Amino acid sequence: METLLEHVYQIRLPLPFRLDHVNSYLIQDEHGWSVIDPGLDTPTTKNVWLRTLRHFNLQPSDIKRIFITHFHPDHYGFAGTMQRWTHAEVIASPRTFALAERYFSNEQAGRDFHYYRKCGMPEQLAEEVTVLDSQLLEQISPIEGNRVNLQEHETVMLGGKPFKIIVGGGHAAGSTGFWNEKERILIGGDMLLQKITPNITYSYEDDEEDNPLQQYFDTLNALQRRNIQTVLPGHGPVFHPDPGFIETVISHHEERLDHILGIVQDDGKDALSVYNICLRLFRKVFNTDSARFALGETAAHLRFLEKQKLLHLHESGGVYYVVAP
Ligand SMILES: [Zn+2]
Repeated sequence: METLLEHVYQIRLPLPFRLDHVNSYLIQDEHGWSVIDPGLDTPTTKNVWLRTLRHFNLQPSDIKRIFITHFHPDHYGFAGTMQRWTHAEVIASPRTFALAERYFSNEQAGRDFHYYRKCGMPEQLAEEVTVLDSQLLEQISPIEGNRVNLQEHETVMLGGKPFKIIVGGGHAAGSTGFWNEKERILIGGDMLLQKITPNITYSYEDDEEDNPLQQYFDTLNALQRRNIQTVLPGHGPVFHPDPGFIETVISHHEERLDHILGIVQDDGKDALSVYNICLRLFRKVFNTDSARFALGETAAHLRFLEKQKLLHLHESGGVYYVVAP
């Protein structure tokens, strides 16, 4: 584990995925210790935490607060187990709690399958991907104890410093970052990552206004104005973004939008499904494991273009097809 700031330690927790780790932060406070993002609920996570507590000579009851940056399993999954173990309060945005409840339920598999089919994914592949999705439920432990809502603009003390709560979207609705204005430090979950762009996903089940890529652009623009010096991210090492960093992330998505528009303009008369476009974009990396991310990313970009009226989606036989306007 690495000491980053005084009283703030990065704990690297292994993950059984292609993205092979998630960062948790252990923070010493005047009145006890806090954890940001306890990890995925696996025996490995538990072993790392047991080792970490021993290293710091801590009892589980010394952990008083468990913060969650967003509801994704790699960040949230261990929260319930850690809470039962420490009796700490779990603190997150109201949206994070609500989404965790919705997605980590037995009804989600049916919604996932329906979504993959609407996108035009072949039935057998849609079944395989849905099974993979639902296996994740075994690595998520629900929160049963005390939960506390975190509101935007609220200030929390972490390691003796004030951090203002920033709530953003795109990668996960209700994503929370912790911002220290004086030292320009962001503990950002997956809002900003150094080497990978956070997956932006859309699932055709949210409200009419939902437009995750626009929400991510809004989040990035708000972060851009803060002149961030140090990011403590959810994956990868701590980094110091250069002034053009956020601009590069925005350009990456703009290039993808252009790429999609090109595909639709060239071949749109062939009634391309969301899945067809996804394969054109991600053919080299597409497999059962990556299908969910690739399709969600495609759908989010199509949604953005649809909202800009640069293309239309129409449904036929239960499948969405993309048409140039
Ligand atoms: Zn993550």
